Amino acid sequence: MKGQYAVIGLGRFGSSLATTLHQAGNEVLAIDRNEERIEEYKDHVTYAVVADSTDEEALKSVGIRNFDAVIVAIGDDIQASILTVLILKELEVKKVVAKAINKRHGQVLYKVGADWVVFPERDMGERVATQLMSPNVLDYIELAKDYSIKEVKVPPSMIEKNLRELNLRARFNITVIAIISDGKVSISPSPDRIIKEGDILVVIGENKDLDRFEKFN
Ligand code: ATP
Repeated sequence: MKGQYAVIGLGRFGSSLATTLHQAGNEVLAIDRNEERIEEYKDHVTYAVVADSTDEEALKSVGIRNFDAVIVAIGDDIQASILTVLILKELEVKKVVAKAINKRHGQVLYKVGADWVVFPERDMGERVATQLMSPNVLDYIELAKDYSIKEVKVPPSMIEKNLRELNLRARFNITVIAIISDGKVSISPSPDRIIKEGDILVVIGENKDLDRFEKFN
């Protein structure tokens, strides 16, 4: 579903976020107090305005309340970042996502009402470390503390067998929710589905069970 997003602050993180959302067909408003940044990105977003996000009137005048989500991508100026989140929540913006540069900054952002705080460097570091340690895992989503969904390469010993024979639920306590084969996704595959070489299994389960499955060959 296409959405309407506002991105405040066009540093490396904000500009990448704004252009990616725009390329995917969403409506994107970019805001930065630096005119040069706005000039640089104005052709890569839907609207681009020079404004200081700590100015409540400026945010009201661009209709900030109407966006599905507003992303505050200001890093260095912690005070501006916190004040912006506070104003956005006071203006009753539905979803405020904010970037934090450290733990304390993140805690304060949650306190003033941010719905989701991201730590780009920390989060990416964790992702790269996980990927390095588990080369069979192509991607993952953490659902809760101990549960995840992972995309796992099929172990060679499972090729040419069907899901019923593999019986992953009983053996590993995990559930296959989809199979990606030649880039095509089949959701909720039938138990008769034969696993082919190169298939990717999308599995859900507890992390300890998923780890056991990843290491199985
Ligand atoms: P990155 O690491 O993503 O490159 P950064 O952490 O260095 O970013 P900053 O350089 O602090 O982040 O800020 C990113 C952008 O936010 C800059 O282009 C800056 O002009 C803009 N910015 C900072 N404060 C405000 C504000 N109050 N209103 C609007 N834009 C702001």
